[in-house]
Amino acid sequence: MKAIYASFIGKGNCGKGTQAKILSEKYNLQMISTGSMLRDWTLKDPNNFWSQKLNQDIDNGILVPSAIVFYLWFSKLLSLDSNQGVVFEGSPRMLIEGQAMEEVFRWMDNNQFFVFHLDIPDDESRKRSDLRRYCSKCHKTYSLAFDPGITHCKDDNTEVVIRDDDKPEVIDRRIKEFNQLVIPTIEFLRSKGVLYDINGVGPVEEIAKNIDKIIQEKINQK
Ligand SMILES: [Zn+2]
Repeated sequence: MKAIYASFIGKGNCGKGTQAKILSEKYNLQMISTGSMLRDWTLKDPNNFWSQKLNQDIDNGILVPSAIVFYLWFSKLLSLDSNQGVVFEGSPRMLIEGQAMEEVFRWMDNNQFFVFHLDIPDDESRKRSDLRRYCSKCHKTYSLAFDPGITHCKDDNTEVVIRDDDKPEVIDRRIKEFNQLVIPTIEFLRSKGVLYDINGVGPVEEIAKNIDKIIQEKINQK
């Protein structure tokens, strides 16, 4: 079987991380998460200029330059075996990132490249941010939707807080940025026939099932 390359794109809190994880477990895909790779990178040497700049941008919801994103993605991808599938979480965002990704997978002559657009309304993105709480000790996130009234982390009893990038002004900027920068990327990928629109509102299992149906159809299309 050919390797599966999947990617998720969507507004803040659209469920990219959750769906990427489900897919990576089902098909044994290597997860490439730009966000956590960036955070890991800054932890290696937290006090140097690059780490501080990157952390500041992440906390403020500012997109990091595409060249840095490419470095992280492709150094990881090129370190893998050719039959190891991957799932990119939370990327591509900028048009140039979508173009680079599409170019690489077309060059690889792999017809099992999928970009899933988890579509949620702006208000849903805001609502999910409002409900999210974060443990600064173990980095676990909670949602008041699933854990009503939670005030302390279930694992280490640390008080849970609203993370900087969930603050309303940051979310509003990210939504604006999405509409300006990411929509053209989505349109480009759609024109190349690799984009699949998925309704991101609803039960997690149902969304996962809709994604899997598309993958199965492609795998069996021979
Ligand atoms: Zn915790």
